[in-house]
Amino acid sequence: MDTTVQSWERRELGSFFHTFSDLASLREDGPAIVEKGDGAYIFDTAGKRYFEGNSGLWNMTLGFSETRLAEVAARQYAQFPGYHTFFGRNSKPTIALAERMLELAPVPMSRVFFTNSGSDANESVIKLLWMMWAAEGQPRRRKLLTRKNAYHGATVMASALTGKDYVRAFGLPNAEIVTLDCPHSWRFALPGESDEDYSARLAARLEQQIVAEGPETIAGMFAEPVMGAGGVIVPPDGYFRMIQPVLQRYGIPLVADEVICGFGRTGHLWGAQAVGLRPDIIVASKSMSAGYFPMGAVMLSADMDKRATAACELWEEFPHGYTTGGHPVGCAISLEAIRIITEEGILDNIRKVGPVFQAGLRTLAEHPMVGEARGLGLMGALEMVADKKTKTAYAGEYRVGDRIAKAARDLGFIIRPLGASVVLAPPFIATLDQIGQLLDVLKRILDDVHADVN
Ligand code: PLP
Repeated sequence: MDTTVQSWERRELGSFFHTFSDLASLREDGPAIVEKGDGAYIFDTAGKRYFEGNSGLWNMTLGFSETRLAEVAARQYAQFPGYHTFFGRNSKPTIALAERMLELAPVPMSRVFFTNSGSDANESVIKLLWMMWAAEGQPRRRKLLTRKNAYHGATVMASALTGKDYVRAFGLPNAEIVTLDCPHSWRFALPGESDEDYSARLAARLEQQIVAEGPETIAGMFAEPVMGAGGVIVPPDGYFRMIQPVLQRYGIPLVADEVICGFGRTGHLWGAQAVGLRPDIIVASKSMSAGYFPMGAVMLSADMDKRATAACELWEEFPHGYTTGGHPVGCAISLEAIRIITEEGILDNIRKVGPVFQAGLRTLAEHPMVGEARGLGLMGALEMVADKKTKTAYAGEYRVGDRIAKAARDLGFIIRPLGASVVLAPPFIATLDQIGQLLDVLKRILDDVHADVN
């Protein structure tokens, strides 16, 4: 091995405290240090090339060498390198981005504010809802509805909203969290139950839970249109159509967490459009800046805007914000990323390549190891099972997802393991050829891993 590579690995292990990284794998394989990118590819320090089948963390949607974003950033840095949005101040790119996002919103939205990430955008929404309800004389409306397997971020309340077991590590303030069922028909629908019937059952169950908790204690519901980090769970047909009237009956705002889905991932500009979701509040991040700047956004419907503004009047302001939220460079980059996605054929590319990707995944569902292949647009997952008929999961010790991801990495493809599943989210610029290669490699790896574990 190249000594420079060793040295970077050693320096990394000696200095860097890893987040969301399996310690055993780190010890065994060392860190993976990436040096440069080109289109949909990244290169490690040894010069090995990998197809980034996850767009980094779903966010590098325009790939790793989009010079137009670098140029816009350089221009904005030269023109006005940074400012804030406190004390009534603002800068031009921030206003232009707010306007553009309102133009593109999936349902009419009234106003926008910016944050640095998806987590802090969700965190901001929670504070806004709590403040609003208290100002309206309903201070008991504190509880937040979320779903098993949801991922909403890593700050304290966003983490509490995250329906994953590992959040137990922190002893989070869970008293105000109500966890609903994960809408995953392949896993949880009854035998013979149609999508519509399953959705109706989930809506009825939601109503039961709201009534049991007391509607006067519920502040809002958070939902990803298509769950991402939970394993790319596309809701059953009719799901949002059926749960929304229930929420409306009890005056519960619906927050669409579009951090992954927003700006094209599903083949629609917004996940909401793909699944029939009509949000009161939208949270966006990731592909908004194509990962070239930390950005998050919160969009408010006219009703939410009016009510939140009334609440702010009581305090003379929204006493909340982040130093770099609405950063002019981040906003200039986001404007350009959104322009490229909407006006330079990127959405069209997702609509061309996405169905081929989905069809290829569905073909892999015939593999003896694959229980379900699922997804939408350029997000997908394969869930491996030990027994296809009973859908029995592989025992954890087989580390099936890890094995597949590791074999893929050896062959120059980055994909993400998730228990006995793997998750895929190619960049929006992926070509049909690249998708074909990814699917071919997956097929080969499934054959190998299957032979290995059976
Ligand atoms: N919401 C969703 C749906 C996400 O997938 C993520 C991150 O993956 C977040 C929120 C948190 O975003 P961030 O990591 O930018 O804080």
